[in-house]
Amino acid sequence: MTSVAALKYFDEKLSNFKQTSQAKSLIRLAKDGQRPEAIVVTCSDSRVAPEILFGADVGQLFVIRVAGNIVGSNELASIEFAALALNVPLCIVLGHSSCGAVSASVDWHLERKSPPTASLQSLVKEIEPSVAEAVASTKDSTSCTVKAATSENVSRVMKSISEKSPALKEKIRNGEFLVKGGVVDMGNVALNWLD
Ligand SMILES: [Zn+2]
Repeated sequence: MTSVAALKYFDEKLSNFKQTSQAKSLIRLAKDGQRPEAIVVTCSDSRVAPEILFGADVGQLFVIRVAGNIVGSNELASIEFAALALNVPLCIVLGHSSCGAVSASVDWHLERKSPPTASLQSLVKEIEPSVAEAVASTKDSTSCTVKAATSENVSRVMKSISEKSPALKEKIRNGEFLVKGGVVDMGNVALNWLD
């Protein structure tokens, strides 16, 4: 599809969406304000759509998506906004199998190569500690390393949320906020929660 055709396609999709019950819910939420029930931090991968995976309605999930489901300062601020201003009690950090960001980080690590752009280097730097840990613990195959790095990355992101945000740490300590992590196996759409 060309860029112009894609734009036309999605513009028509939006026109059709306006006729649906979901659009009516959206209009109601625009008037009443949002009250999401969970935050989801997940990858930008087009296959990992949290609203579809969790069967959620419009307004139920506060979604933060970035390649490799990493949490930098802007993502952390988004979590804080949802938890502190909207009182969302739960944050799910959701990794997934066949993650391009994690796979590329593993490849670049094993080949001792640097990502081609400064922005990619910055993103990979966030995933690198998980890759190093996975490489040290899985010496058998690259696919095992990618799997281990994916779980490790989710665990590290979960830990960093409370470590980097005193306000969220306080909420967690008071039992008002829970950070939970999991990895979706895209092959069978199964969600494996991490401890
Ligand atoms: Zn991904």
